[in-house]
Amino acid sequence: MQFDVLVIGGGHAGCEAALCTARLGLKTLLITGSLDRIAAMSCNPAIGGVGKGHLVKEIDALGGEMPKIADLTGIHFRTLNASRGPAVQATRCQSDMERYRRRMTEVVFKTPNLSLRQDDVVGLLSEAAQITGVVTKHSGEIRACSVIVTTGTFLGGQLHLGHEKMPGGRAGEAPSSGLSYSLSQLGLELGRLKTGTCPRLDARTIDYSELEEQQPDSPAPMFAFESIEPVLKQVSCHITYTNTNTHHVIQEAIQSGRAPLYNGQIAGAGPRYCPSIEDKVTRFAQKESHLIFLEPQGLDTYEVYPNGLSTSLPPAVQIDFLRSMKGLSRVEVTRWGYAVEYDFVQPTQLHPTLETKNISGLFCAGQINGTTGYEEAAIQGLMAGLNAAAKLKHQEPVILGRHQAYAGVLIDDLVTLGTEEPYRMFTSRAEHRLVLREDNVYARLAPIGAKTGLLPQKRFEAMQAFEELALKDSQSRRFQIEQKYAGYLSRIQKELRDQVELDACVIPEHVFETQTPGLSNEVFEKLRKHRPRTLGQAARISGITPAAQSLILVAIKRAERHA
Ligand SMILES: Cc1cc2nc3c(=O)[nH]c(=O)nc-3n(C[C@H](O)[C@H](O)[C@H](O)COP(=O)(O)OP(=O)(O)OC[C@H]3O[C@@H](n4cnc5c(N)ncnc54)[C@H](O)[C@@H]3O)c2cc1C
Repeated sequence: MQFDVLVIGGGHAGCEAALCTARLGLKTLLITGSLDRIAAMSCNPAIGGVGKGHLVKEIDALGGEMPKIADLTGIHFRTLNASRGPAVQATRCQSDMERYRRRMTEVVFKTPNLSLRQDDVVGLLSEAAQITGVVTKHSGEIRACSVIVTTGTFLGGQLHLGHEKMPGGRAGEAPSSGLSYSLSQLGLELGRLKTGTCPRLDARTIDYSELEEQQPDSPAPMFAFESIEPVLKQVSCHITYTNTNTHHVIQEAIQSGRAPLYNGQIAGAGPRYCPSIEDKVTRFAQKESHLIFLEPQGLDTYEVYPNGLSTSLPPAVQIDFLRSMKGLSRVEVTRWGYAVEYDFVQPTQLHPTLETKNISGLFCAGQINGTTGYEEAAIQGLMAGLNAAAKLKHQEPVILGRHQAYAGVLIDDLVTLGTEEPYRMFTSRAEHRLVLREDNVYARLAPIGAKTGLLPQKRFEAMQAFEELALKDSQSRRFQIEQKYAGYLSRIQKELRDQVELDACVIPEHVFETQTPGLSNEVFEKLRKHRPRTLGQAARISGITPAAQSLILVAIKRAERHA
């Protein structure tokens, strides 16, 4: 069997990657551990949010799938930060998790050029630093010109629930074994990270009369260009708070050595900005309460996700602290919260195309690259798919600048700086976030989506027509934002141009092999280690001083003269 592209993993990254290459006409195989768990939401039943909603809109403008399915299966849409400036306003929807999974499964099954196989990939095949295929547990060897690895939290996965430790990629699913070894044999450095999830609650045991209701926005903000209004019934979320009793139960468990995060059982670094309740109570000890959103997981289930209560404390402690909170005094748990530790590939070993620097044709996308979140995974899957296709078709790589897209910021941060903890997107990660708004996403990215061929021409033309109209129409929100910030936007044009110029200066290979005269040993070692693609990328590596940048620029100009 020979494929153009083989995608390992049917999570959020894997689905976008496989759909992208198949839609671009490449014979694609998606291999995943369980066909019944395609696009499963391992954690919160929601898509979008600040920074993340921006990514979902970018996926839409480039021609990806997540936004359409989020709209079709959303049960509570809101604009976050609605009273703040346009740069930080963001769309978020609660999803019916099961419908989301089923819908994405249907799409991947029905897409031409895309085959599916339930199996485990246990090794990678390569010849002379070029990927040639994979080894599977049941189907033997399968050959492919490109392989995209999107294995999420499954590599060497270990679950933690109180003192219990068990191998697992996520609850109820076996970890991936063999692939970590294969990646390290190919010279890739792996690290260890952890993330956690909340217990799930039985809605029938929650006293909603005691709780604050949060209704969805009407009209509903949506992700995909064509979406007008939600298809499914819209439901409310509810709000409760932790209190000093809740914190006392948690602190007591930590002090008596029952918290895996604090008793040495978990070594991997966790997400700083999505901390467990154990972390919150310890790090913000002065706070007397934390806000908790009770989010329904779907229309056909009684399960509720208590957003903000990620934990790996023992079940007895989880039920104790839950029942200390308003509205939850009789609550029953349907699934316990737990943490997962897993291997990740340090992303500085990737080109900005998400191809590994060591092995040609081998790409990595999603949580395996040290990120956390469905949206971060999906956009990486899409970008890896676009670049795998571009490479096979001998086209220009698709690399988005930091001034063009949050996708550009995300990938540049990962491949330039690497990460020591699960990376999630925030608007504050972008230097010029007023340039990267949700409302101007089609102007920024639809031409790129159309050029790659992933965004259908008709959709592109409709987006262009919409843009033209909106920019002429002094009623329109788009027009008003452009007018209001016109001064700022024109002031930063020079800065943006400078950044674009630096990012266009490609560093020749010899700069990494032979020390440029005047360059310190320390800078030379950094350049050899990171192998930045451009001068702009080099400038963002700590320790590459302006003086060093000037010397590299001289080397680039000299190479251009001799070319
Ligand atoms: C316990 C837990 C808590 C989380 N908490 C949060 C959170 O608080 N906030 C947040 O934003 N995100 C959280 N996430 C992360 C979120 O689920 C992921 O970021 C997102 O799903 C990653 O998408 P992905 O496509 O990279 O991987 P996944 O969605 O994990 O998909 C990986 C896929 O690869 C398949 N696979 C793995 N190995 C192999 C193999 N060798 N062969 C074949 N198939 C394979 C698996 O079967 C799976 O389908 C959490 C995840 C877990 C498990």
